[in-house]
Amino acid sequence: MKPTFHHSLVNGPFKDPSLYVRLFWQRRALLFDAGDISALDQKSILKLSDVFITHTHIDHFIGFDTLLRAHLGNERQLRVYGPMDILEHIEGKLGGYSWNVIEQYPLKLEVFGIDENSIKQASFYASEAFRRIDRGERAFEGVVIDDEFFKVRAVSLRHDIQCLGYTLEEDFHINIDKAALSERGLPVGKWLSQLKNLIRKGAQDDTIIDIEGRPYALADLKNLAMITKGQKISYVMDVEPSEDNVEKIIGLVKGSNTFYCEAYFIDEDRDRAFERHHLTARLAGRIAREAGVRELVVTHFSPKYLGAERTPEQEALEEFQKQS
Ligand SMILES: [Zn+2]
Ligand SMILES: [Zn+2]
Repeated sequence: MKPTFHHSLVNGPFKDPSLYVRLFWQRRALLFDAGDISALDQKSILKLSDVFITHTHIDHFIGFDTLLRAHLGNERQLRVYGPMDILEHIEGKLGGYSWNVIEQYPLKLEVFGIDENSIKQASFYASEAFRRIDRGERAFEGVVIDDEFFKVRAVSLRHDIQCLGYTLEEDFHINIDKAALSERGLPVGKWLSQLKNLIRKGAQDDTIIDIEGRPYALADLKNLAMITKGQKISYVMDVEPSEDNVEKIIGLVKGSNTFYCEAYFIDEDRDRAFERHHLTARLAGRIAREAGVRELVVTHFSPKYLGAERTPEQEALEEFQKQS
């Protein structure tokens, strides 16, 4: 089944972590973490509408300036999500520049700080010289974005500081049964996207769809659509190896098609992992196995393993593939 989004890491495992997700049909993309993103071309950066930051350590956040610079002249609103203190960090980053001649620029930044139970929003507009405009706070129950086509969820984890783990999940795929379409003598046309949208929204069966001037009830057309479960991808970086984190991550990433996970240290260096609040590759493998994910992609390795005989990737995959 053809997925509606394509995902890939921006850099190799020894460089800053960032995951780029292109949403087909929407001319739009998402980014998980903004480490060094200089490998992304301008066009790809300008497609970004939503950026999800796990935490604001420099290797996950230094790319914010690149994003900001590229988006200054962009009409599209740019939304940035992160742990609760991201509001202060973005305010601080913006405060590091002089903004006296940018009133004409269209950029509207909307920033969302998330903790266990609440989500706080602030706006920063170029037209207002990026002064902070607080938009209040609302309850947070795990869903960051509930889009027409997908959901993004987040869970608060610990990395000494607060760190968010994310999943991106398509609601479901709808494909049109071409054979059934021609059997009924119905033409291909724009009404097919309307049909898909109505099914996605759970519209009433008696909703009317116009096909070349003739009215059809939704109930009469539903059997042309083949519905399958959408894909789920997860992204978890920089978390301490506590059982509390492990349990929360398993709950979040359960059943993912692809799980992107940090594996900063190998098990032999687990004391370092505890000290530095990172997972080990073996633990990443165990989490992926217990969560029943289909594919595990580990990244964000300590530079000490560059050229090493045993890589975090080998260790993680060995553990992942063990029979439980
Ligand atoms: Zn990191
Ligand atoms: Zn970190």
